[in-house]
Order: sequence, then C-alpha cells, then structure tokens
Amino acid sequence: MKVAVCINHVPDTETKIKVGADNVSIDRAGVNFMMSPYDEIAVEEGLRMRDKFKGEVIAISLGNEKHKETLRKALAMGVDKAVLLKEDGERDSFGVAAGLAEELRALAPDVILFGKQSIDHDDAQVGILVAEMLGLPSVGVAVKIEITDDTVVCHREIEGGHETVHTKLPAVFLAQKGLNEPRYPSLKGIMAAKSKPIEEKPAVATAARVETVALRKPAAKAAGRILGTDKTAVPELIRLLHDEAKII
Ligand SMILES: Cc1cc2nc3c(=O)[nH]c(=O)nc-3n(C[C@H](O)[C@H](O)[C@H](O)COP(=O)(O)OP(=O)(O)OC[C@H]3O[C@@H](n4cnc5c(N)ncnc54)[C@H](O)[C@@H]3O)c2cc1C
Repeated sequence: MKVAVCINHVPDTETKIKVGADNVSIDRAGVNFMMSPYDEIAVEEGLRMRDKFKGEVIAISLGNEKHKETLRKALAMGVDKAVLLKEDGERDSFGVAAGLAEELRALAPDVILFGKQSIDHDDAQVGILVAEMLGLPSVGVAVKIEITDDTVVCHREIEGGHETVHTKLPAVFLAQKGLNEPRYPSLKGIMAAKSKPIEEKPAVATAARVETVALRKPAAKAAGRILGTDKTAVPELIRLLHDEAKII
C-alpha cells in the first residue's frame, strides 16, 4: 500500500502572534514552528496502515526551507520518504492544494491523508480541494478508518454523534482528534532522520485566488465590572445578564 501524508509547518500553539509591519502577515521573529497537530494524527495513521498492509508512507510539505523541520519530525516518527515542494512566498489554500495535487497525481497513492485543518489559517480546505482536483472520494473529520482490500468503512464526527461512510480506494481522509494517539519520535528515529534525504522540488506555480488585504488582532476585552461583594448585587447582575449580555 502506498500512503501519502500532507503535513504543514505552523506557528506553535503557545506563540503570542504579532502582526507584521506590512499589516498582512505575522511577525515571524521569535516564533517557534511545529508540525500542525492534526497532521501528526495523519502521520500516525499512515504509519499504522503501512505496518498493517506493508508498503510505504511518503510525507509531503509545501513551503519554505523551514518546512524541512516538520518533514524531519515525520521521518523521525517513521515515514519512509519526505518531499518538500519549495515555495518561499505565502500561498492561499487553493495554491497549496494545486501544488500538492500535482505531486500526488504523479505518486498515485492508494491513501492520501491530511489533517482536518491546519492550525495556522484554519481554513480546512486543502484536503477537500486536493480530492476534487484528483477526482477522488474524500472523507472529512475521520475518527476511525477500517480498510479491507480496496473497501473502506470510515467513521466521521458529526454534531452529537458519528456517521459511518463506505468508500473505495484510492481515497482522501482528513484526520480528526481521536483517530489515534500519535507516537513520539524515538531517539533512534530522531538520529536516523538526520541522515535521511529530503527530496526537494519547486512547487508548481499557480495564481492566487485570495488576497490578504489586512491582518489585525481582535479588539482588547473590556475590563470586568464589580457590581458588589454581597447578595445585594444579585438583582443588578441578573438585569445585566438579561438586558446587556442577553445570555439569560
Ligand atoms: C506564519 C505563516 C507562514 C507561512 N509560510 C508559508 C510558506 O512558506 N509557503 C507557503 O506556500 N505558504 C505559507 N503559508 C501559508 C500556509 O501554508 C497556509 O496554511 C496554506 O494556505 C494552507 O491553508 P490552511 O492553513 O487554511 O490549510 P487547511 O486547509 O486548514 O489545511 C488542511 C490540511 O491540509 C494540509 N496542508 C495545509 N497546508 C499544507 C502545506 N503547506 N503543505 C502540506 N500540507 C498542507 C495539512 O494536512 C492540513 O492539516 C504560511 C502561513 C503562515 C500563517
């Protein structure tokens, strides 16, 4: 079985984001980057499929030189190959999907895994766009993927429950929390990953369809109000919750 996993290199969730001087991108100074958490789940699922059905797992990332850090982590977790589709600028989701689809068309994997969303722009578009571009079925928010020959039973999360869908390989799956518990790279894996090659090629060019015209932080929250310190404040609290906050 050939499994491809698409992984993104994103700002660490602990990062305090600052808007850059151009007002359309973030200030990257001092920002730590990491593999997007849902993509770790996708990598783990790919490794489990490879171990069960034999074959190979290929990790692909589209971005600048720094994306190699995330590809190295995937290699340390156990993927067989890593491919960097080089792009020094910032692409919109369509541009990322077009670059990935071109590479995936040539690779022709049985299974293509994505995270359900990337935690930088949170657009949750790339996986579905790639599936459409390749004319493949896709299942989003996957929490269980059971493969028998070329038939797949997949459980996906929906509001308040799970939906069971059936499809055939080749297909695209978008990993959700709960699909598995991603492994930590072992020391042996980290050492081995340092010497594994990362294949590099330019990402196929596409025109942007979305332009970021401004980036700004949310307005600062208003300071809290203290209405009183004993039960005499309760009527006013109820009035404010009802009339102003409109939550009761
Ligand atoms: C700080 C910062 C730096 C950036 N640097 C670059 C850059 O150097 N080059 C560039 O082209 N864009 C760059 N971008 C744009 C970035 O890659 C976006 O994430 C991209 O537009 C994907 O949109 P999304 O986050 O909404 O993905 P979603 O649609 O939410 O992602 C869904 C899934 O698609 C896959 N995926 C998403 N993006 C990629 C990717 N780039 N490679 C492989 N798989 C992916 C992952 O499996 C992910 O879980 C940067 C963005 C930020 C915030």
